[in-house]
Amino acid sequence: MNKARIITTLQCTRHCKLCSNKMLRVETKAVWCKLTDIGNYDEYILTGGEPLIDIGRIIDIAWHLKNEHPRSEIYLYTTLFSMHSMDELMKYIDGITYSVHVPFLSSDRYHFMNMQNFANRHPNKSFRLWIDQHVNGYLEIRPADWDRITVAPMLKDCKLPEDEQLFILED
Ligand code: SF4
Repeated sequence: MNKARIITTLQCTRHCKLCSNKMLRVETKAVWCKLTDIGNYDEYILTGGEPLIDIGRIIDIAWHLKNEHPRSEIYLYTTLFSMHSMDELMKYIDGITYSVHVPFLSSDRYHFMNMQNFANRHPNKSFRLWIDQHVNGYLEIRPADWDRITVAPMLKDCKLPEDEQLFILED
């Protein structure tokens, strides 16, 4: 299976110490391109930065990919939940990987609970939860709402998977 990992924006309001973008120096490793330049892949991963900083843009990107590559799967990676347009976004994507990072912010519990409730209402889509093992806040996790739950450390020497091509979208 070949995959396109698409950094939709490098903007992010968090400052994770081991941010994978910094660790991988993605600016030097990725192909900078327009969305229309990205070819056919079995799977598209929309990531950032934080994609949900601009959900309207993510809906446009997901809509384009779903129309151009209807047989491919599309997933979103995020640390946020948007109260607006999430149902619209779900028309074009197959699932969400939701991450809880360090530092654990007071707003994280709110975003997490909203995402978990949202996952509960969309049992036909894939929802995966990834939690940094150093998170020390309280989260009321309902395992039945998630397809996979991972608790792990962020890695200093993370590497790009070999079956993935990394892209950064130009504005
Ligand atoms: S949330 Fe992701 S993109 Fe943002 S600082 Fe943390 S690791 Fe980097």
